[in-house]
Amino acid sequence: MAIQYKQKCYACKKNYVTVTRRQPFAMCWDCQEKELSGEVKDPEMKKMFDIPLEYYKKSSFLRDIKSRYLRFGALTENQIKAFKKVSEEMKGNPQP
Ligand SMILES: [Zn+2]
Repeated sequence: MAIQYKQKCYACKKNYVTVTRRQPFAMCWDCQEKELSGEVKDPEMKKMFDIPLEYYKKSSFLRDIKSRYLRFGALTENQIKAFKKVSEEMKGNPQP
C-alpha cells in the first residue's frame, strides 16, 4: 500500500481526510457525498461502483475515482484497475 497521511479537506478545510501522495486534493465525505450520488449508466461501471458505502466513506481514493467518472464519463484502464484493487483489498482486509 502507498503511504497514507492525513490532511484537511480542501473544500471545507475542516475535516481531515486520509490521502496518499497521488491525490493531493482530497475532499472529505461530507463535501463529496453529493457529488458521488450521480447516476452511473454504463452497466459494467455500475457494477464496479456498486460497493458498500462504507468503502467510499473510508477511502478518498475510491471517492476520487467515482467522482472523476461522473464528471468525465470515462476512466482510464489504470484507474479502473486501481479502483478494483483497492475495493478488493477493503473487502479482504477490513480496517478497524
Ligand atoms: Zn470537507
